Amino acid sequence: MTERLRIALQKKGRLAEDSFKLLRKCGLRFTIRGDGLLARVKNMPIDLLLVRDDDIPSFVANNAADIGIVGENVLVEEQLVSNDKLDANIKMRLGFSKCKLCLASPENNELDNIIKLSNTRIATSYPGVLKKFLDEEKIKAKLVEMKGAVELAPSIGIADSICDLVSSGATLEANGLKVFRTILESEAVLIQSKRSLSAEKGILLKKVFRRIDGVIKSSETKYVMLNAPREKVDEITELLPGSDSPTIVPLAGSDNLVALQAVCTEKILWENLEELKLLGARAILVLPIEKMMS
Ligand code: ATP
Ligand code: ZN
Repeated sequence: MTERLRIALQKKGRLAEDSFKLLRKCGLRFTIRGDGLLARVKNMPIDLLLVRDDDIPSFVANNAADIGIVGENVLVEEQLVSNDKLDANIKMRLGFSKCKLCLASPENNELDNIIKLSNTRIATSYPGVLKKFLDEEKIKAKLVEMKGAVELAPSIGIADSICDLVSSGATLEANGLKVFRTILESEAVLIQSKRSLSAEKGILLKKVFRRIDGVIKSSETKYVMLNAPREKVDEITELLPGSDSPTIVPLAGSDNLVALQAVCTEKILWENLEELKLLGARAILVLPIEKMMS
């Protein structure tokens, strides 16, 4: 019987949809049902273990799953509270669910600098990361541990400031809080343990990694096509962000103009196109790339 690879994912929440989307772009076909803990991938020997994000690092470490997708903030916290005994390590950064773990305090008070945190109360769901930060800064403060709704702690009088995740800052603002320090930057990461896998699973995992890598790379990578004066080709190539040697084709009916095509691996901004135009490039097209394999 074929061994099935198991991937731990958040069932519901801020990571869930983007994790499903990434795997679907990798060609995995599956259906998520409301109550299921496991979803079977129909076209590959893979099962998805659908759980709370906080459980993902330990599931990967304890062999309940082979790999997992989780916020770096959760991974770092779990590693710290286990005294670095957790065998779950970052294999790939995935570029979505970006957020920051920040210190914030009520807008109208003076707690706007970490020095002033001494002997105050800080509410957080990340005691491990916060304690490490305070120890490094040699600040002694009381941590008030909360599982959720941390942003309410100052207004209900159980803490003076908070240490919580921020993406746009709108939730904090709505609660009259202002960020004064970032202590960790986070994004979704793919994690794996150091355990060795059977040859069969190893081959499948390599394939999954290669596809994920291809999806991540192709999301920023674009195919650029333009017409340019022959003598400007070198200068134009230099301006294309992250491009290899371009393909140059003569344009029918023109001695001076050529068509240039290149794969650009870095983000292309309007400013880049304006600079290309100044060098004489015309009919500039930037096309998305759906899949890539090198
Ligand atoms: P679960 O029920 O799985 O325990 P949760 O409530 O702990 O979910 P979510 O709020 O769904 O977690 O957030 C999951 C992850 O999404 C966070 O750990 C973090 O990595 C990321 N994230 C991105 N932006 C934010 C944000 N503004 N607030 C909270 N988390 C964010
Ligand atoms: Zn959680």
